[in-house]
Amino acid sequence: ETNKETLGFQTEVKQLLHLMIHSLYSNKEIFLRELISNASDAEDKLRFAALKDDGLFEGDSELKIRLDYDKDAGTITLSDNGIGMTRDDVISNLGTIARSGTAEFLKQLSGDEKKDSKLIGQFGVGFYSAFIVADKVDVFTRRAGAPAEEGVHWESKGDGEFTIEQVNRERRGTEIVIHLKSDAQEFADGWKLRSLVKKYSDHISFPVVMKAEGEEDGQKGEYETINDATALWTLPRTEIKDEEYKEFYKHIAHDFEDPLTWSHNKVEGKLDYTSLLYLPKRAPFDMYNREAPRGLKLYVQRVFIMDDAEQFLPLYLRFTKGVIDSNDLSLNVSREILQNDSTVESIRTAVTKRVLDMMSKLAKKSPDEYQGFWDEFGTVLKEGPAEDFGNREKIAGLLRFASTHTGEATQNVSLDDYIARMKEGQSKIYYVTADNFMAAKSSPHLEVFRKKGIEVLILSDRIDEWMMGYLNEYDSKQFQDVARGDLDLGEVETEEDKKHQEEAAKEHKGLTERIQKALEDQVQEVRVTNRLTDSPACLVTGQFDMGAQMKKIMEAAGQ
Ligand code: ADP
Ligand code: MG
Repeated sequence: ETNKETLGFQTEVKQLLHLMIHSLYSNKEIFLRELISNASDAEDKLRFAALKDDGLFEGDSELKIRLDYDKDAGTITLSDNGIGMTRDDVISNLGTIARSGTAEFLKQLSGDEKKDSKLIGQFGVGFYSAFIVADKVDVFTRRAGAPAEEGVHWESKGDGEFTIEQVNRERRGTEIVIHLKSDAQEFADGWKLRSLVKKYSDHISFPVVMKAEGEEDGQKGEYETINDATALWTLPRTEIKDEEYKEFYKHIAHDFEDPLTWSHNKVEGKLDYTSLLYLPKRAPFDMYNREAPRGLKLYVQRVFIMDDAEQFLPLYLRFTKGVIDSNDLSLNVSREILQNDSTVESIRTAVTKRVLDMMSKLAKKSPDEYQGFWDEFGTVLKEGPAEDFGNREKIAGLLRFASTHTGEATQNVSLDDYIARMKEGQSKIYYVTADNFMAAKSSPHLEVFRKKGIEVLILSDRIDEWMMGYLNEYDSKQFQDVARGDLDLGEVETEEDKKHQEEAAKEHKGLTERIQKALEDQVQEVRVTNRLTDSPACLVTGQFDMGAQMKKIMEAAGQ
């Protein structure tokens, strides 16, 4: 052919393909879920685009996904009549990976199948998973609305390059032909494929059709729908099995591990919407990348509108995945409109509460699972008190800290745990901050607390001091930085302690004055302290001054 071109995959794609084929060997069958998921997304996109231009349907508005196989040829063919792709779409979608940070991420992979398969799960495998079972893949596609001559044929053996050529294609949408490897021939089987569709794709919104299996040898009948084909979130909770919730999560979240938990709610009345929200088990590799996609999948009256609708969640809950299906918003809604729409605002408030409640429930019901969640997402949740004033108390209840109670770096003490252990007469929640756990734990400021047996929370994450600036109290108990201002131990301090303190101050007045003079420019005041038992001296920050850690952050930022 004259217009056939051979192009190389982007380096990252090559690496991903190589690693995926090796680490997902025992997870082969997920390729079908990924491809059906893409087909379903393509149908969704077409239906959305056709809201404005129903010419895109080209006279065929019955959206469905067709699955065929040929045992003798060892092929599976998946076709959709969705949005399709242009030549440029194909080159960028099936030849590159657009997410930033991919190269660094891929470097972490070790060659250990078990470990890598988890990491790749965090990444999401997508289209390229076809090469787990295929030694060759053909993609035929034409963008909806484009002329038949603008069809595209993409072909690759998954070995570093692909070819692309222009072809004639009457049908819009995408057809993918998988040429099965010799050790994956079992997938060219009607019953096998049916069971996989049922297992993985029962509740996508579109029918998956296959030819009826004949009674005898290969005789096939008419196409029939083999999945349930009703969007999962539209069903009543009582009719949905856990397995179905989990599979649906994998479809929308591009994750291939199970979710940690979910919350499914139909809201009627002033607002009319359904939400299905999930907490993932594992953080995506680009959680701290500001440009990484986040948000919920938005539907209006069951019509897909957009992915990554950010407006429905605050930033500190950006790890949440899920679907919002609103009956109040207009089908014409755009990202710009979402920015300042009062309905969206109300849904966001309610959804935020739901997510926080989902976490509280998890923390109560399965502390171990919550601990896993905290280890993955805790630092993100710590952005909450600053971002979401209204929910500060609720968020604070979800925080976990290291503490002198355990003396270990693991952040597993809740404020409720702390309060339950407070000493008779203690009215404040004490904490110490430092650059790292060991420094915080060995701070001289902790001496008197050790002596008195008072627990102190140990804060050493970068974000901690900043966060504490937004938390004044919890359960009506004030937070107190042990390195700040006068140390008030409340009633834990005995009369005797206080008397001793005053006497010592009097007795050493000469000494403190002399030190003060020597350090004139560097300190505000030198005084006798009740803080120490072993160390001779320590530095204290004024009650209203910037903390030491914060100062460092500001200095680093050039302030
Ligand atoms: P993801 O689905 O997470 O975006 P994939 O690797 O599964 O990643 O797919 C990459 C891209 O290729 C999709 O975002 C989409 O733009 C395009 N694509 C894949 N399959 C189809 C299809 N059947 N129809 C139209 N576009 C597709
Ligand atoms: Mg996909």
